[in-house]
Amino acid sequence: LLRMESVRKSFGDSVVLRDVDLEVAPHTVTTLIGASGSGKSTLLRCANLLEEVDDGAIWLDGEEITDPRTDQDAVRRRIGVVFQAYNLFPHMTVLENITLAPRRVHGAGRAEAEAHARELLERLGLGAKADEYPDRLSGGQQQRAAIVRALAVRPRLLLLDEITAALDPELVGEVLDVVRDVKADGMTMVLATHEMGFAREVSDQVCFLEDGVILERGTPEQVFGDPRQERTRRFLGRIV
Ligand code: ATP
Ligand code: MG
Repeated sequence: LLRMESVRKSFGDSVVLRDVDLEVAPHTVTTLIGASGSGKSTLLRCANLLEEVDDGAIWLDGEEITDPRTDQDAVRRRIGVVFQAYNLFPHMTVLENITLAPRRVHGAGRAEAEAHARELLERLGLGAKADEYPDRLSGGQQQRAAIVRALAVRPRLLLLDEITAALDPELVGEVLDVVRDVKADGMTMVLATHEMGFAREVSDQVCFLEDGVILERGTPEQVFGDPRQERTRRFLGRIV
């Protein structure tokens, strides 16, 4: 569903991604792990064309999205993104936040967009919060609402960048539960996380990044249970 080939990205003199190859099959979860600054967020931003790659190519559903003739807005409409800091608009209710893009960008009617939003909220345990403003929700609820908002446009792919990093530890679990539910629905996801237990449980593919290189990749059993690279071993040893 998503393929990256020899993707390179630099900021000034600093090379952040070096010849990254990545293949993401439909309905699978790929997790990016690695130290701070290893390039996880940059990789996600390149996949969503928020950053222009210097070299290499990216395909989504067989279409080369790094081709200069690509309609970048159309590509972004097919990819949902959630970042670390919940970015709901504070002056809109949860329901208004969620229906904004489907109505404005995708041309959905109000009734249709609201029905779909309420169904998603219900399924992800936020049915009672549809008409609240974001500041009346806990951090975990806000982040779950941000995930619902990303799903509301029926994306092909969901990119999640450390969506639990800003949360109090007791709120992390409920957000990860939502990711499990979304996975169970068959959504294809690529996520960057420091939650190793979660990565191990939810991933089909784990990629360990170091200095802009995917140093090791495999099933969670392989990468966590029996890493081939000494540096993966050291990274996991430091943080587990
Ligand atoms: P973290 O775990 O802290 O989120 P990360 O793996 O997501 O780290 P990135 O955010 O991808 O790392 O950053 C990789 C490198 O690229 C870092 O050295 C960072 O300073 C640099 N970088 C990222 N974005 C920019 C930018 N817009 N301009 C210049 N340098 C940048
Ligand atoms: Mg990051």
